Amino acid sequence: MRRAAETALGVDVGGTRIRVARIDRAGRILERIVEPVRADRAGFQEQLARLTGELRAPSDTAVGIGIPGRVDGHSGTILSAGYLDIAGLDLAGLIAERTGLPCRIENDATMALIAEMRARVSGPSGLVAMFTIGTGIGGAMLQDGRPWYGGGLSGQFGHIVVADDGPPCNCGRTGCVETFSSGTALGRLIAQDGLPETTRAGDLLARAKGGDSQAADLLERWARPLFRAIETIVSVTDPNLVLIGGGLGAEMTRALARLPSRSRWFSLPIEAAVLGDDAGVVGAGICGLDTLPNSEGGATA
Ligand SMILES: [Zn+2]
Repeated sequence: MRRAAETALGVDVGGTRIRVARIDRAGRILERIVEPVRADRAGFQEQLARLTGELRAPSDTAVGIGIPGRVDGHSGTILSAGYLDIAGLDLAGLIAERTGLPCRIENDATMALIAEMRARVSGPSGLVAMFTIGTGIGGAMLQDGRPWYGGGLSGQFGHIVVADDGPPCNCGRTGCVETFSSGTALGRLIAQDGLPETTRAGDLLARAKGGDSQAADLLERWARPLFRAIETIVSVTDPNLVLIGGGLGAEMTRALARLPSRSRWFSLPIEAAVLGDDAGVVGAGICGLDTLPNSEGGATA
């Protein structure tokens, strides 16, 4: 039975920062701590235990943790997390020991998508997909509100191959969309074009709107590979909605809107995410409230 005052601790582990917040059932942030994340194994565990201990309140019934990397959704096993040295760590065990609460672990894009869908007053259910555009590119899918894991690791949208060649990717391949359309890739395009390092996506969009062909061309080179990746997802899965989020989600959505559709068969149901940087931590809290720990049978919400 749901209690109105029930809360959960949401943890969003980012590449540079860790956010811990108390979240209620409406997805509101009641209290929060943000710190630079510690990338070393021992330091990360100390930090996670300390922050969740500091925020722990009697109303908390669970903890949800979003990880920036490959997480097996069925088991909660962390396989990789960018440059954070936390692969294989039993975070659920650590949380249980320190707080006495059950813990659910998910990929951070899955957490963000859960929060975005909760924030919508109405809108499509069914299958929804999300691309997160940041340092890299993440992805997630929900089917009727539940994460769709496939074998466990579905949603690695950043590794959709969009070219026969291209920059080498961390996954071992070349030509992954992450190497063309991430924030890192945008920085590389800006440097290649001889523009100041401080140039931002918003500057380029404003200049392109004013008729600047260099800015328009650069934005097209940044966004078109992602457009191809979205076309692939749409062809394969026919989602009702494709959300574009992450730190550069709003800018990428505008850059995508500049590209014409090339198909008479498929339309791309693209929308910008609305929650910004809070999506991950809010989704982690909601996920904690709505679901069982990974090892006890998966999502129930
Ligand atoms: Zn890759």
